[in-house]
Amino acid sequence: LSSKTFKPNPSVIDVNGVKIGGKELAIMAGPCAVESREQILEAAKAVKKAGAQFLRGGAFKPRTSPYSFQGLEEEGLKLLKEAKEATGLLIVSEVTSERAVEIASKYVDMFQIGARNVQNFQLLREVGRSKKPVLFKRGVATTINEWLNAAEYIMSEGNYNVVLCERGIRTFETATRNTLDISAIPVVKSLSHLPIIVDPSHAAGKSIYISALSKAAIAAGADGLIVEVHPQPKMALSDAAQQLPPDEFSRLCKDIEDIAKII
Ligand code: PEP
Ligand code: MN
Repeated sequence: LSSKTFKPNPSVIDVNGVKIGGKELAIMAGPCAVESREQILEAAKAVKKAGAQFLRGGAFKPRTSPYSFQGLEEEGLKLLKEAKEATGLLIVSEVTSERAVEIASKYVDMFQIGARNVQNFQLLREVGRSKKPVLFKRGVATTINEWLNAAEYIMSEGNYNVVLCERGIRTFETATRNTLDISAIPVVKSLSHLPIIVDPSHAAGKSIYISALSKAAIAAGADGLIVEVHPQPKMALSDAAQQLPPDEFSRLCKDIEDIAKII
């Protein structure tokens, strides 16, 4: 179902009126995690002003350590909804369990499946039974073929609204958190009709590299970006090193618009 042999023409995924995979770039931005009303409202206003169509923010956080901040769960989703009402941005937020899918379906426009759950087939089937669009991240050690097969779990339940997201894979290199696999963009485009966006934040792990990776992603044909933006990155409760302040995100949006015009 995800392959080009099944459907030769690129799919355009409509998320409550915003199209992903068409002419316009899809820009999703916001903090790693929803932390407070003030934080998410400030982030939402800033990313809206910079030109994003989606607000991201984790409410169910799949942290590497169980002792790290785990997210505000439903309270976080309520704050995202409040930010949506204030700005008109669409909401994308991660779901980590079937219970989270049930709760989040009341609040979000798009489910995010994170790298750690790329082959959590029960969870994939669960979002597949929903009609809501799914942002489906690649795992750190998932081949493109495994990733597309995992997307089949969502699509074979009837949900064709899948947007892929390359977010870096694990290699021997330690200078960056992960290694952004730029080749995944043309490879996915040759194998699949599904749109693909790039998450430079979790790939780089450091804010200074986000701009270069974002530009490379758009030049390589990505359909958009999901970028971590925090009003005060240093104060962030998760992923502090990789979140951009609003002014840098705003500059990035202008730069990628220029690149998108020439490709
Ligand atoms: C995130 O988007 O906050 C996240 C946890 O990303 P990933 O699943 O790519 O690690
Ligand atoms: Mn994060």
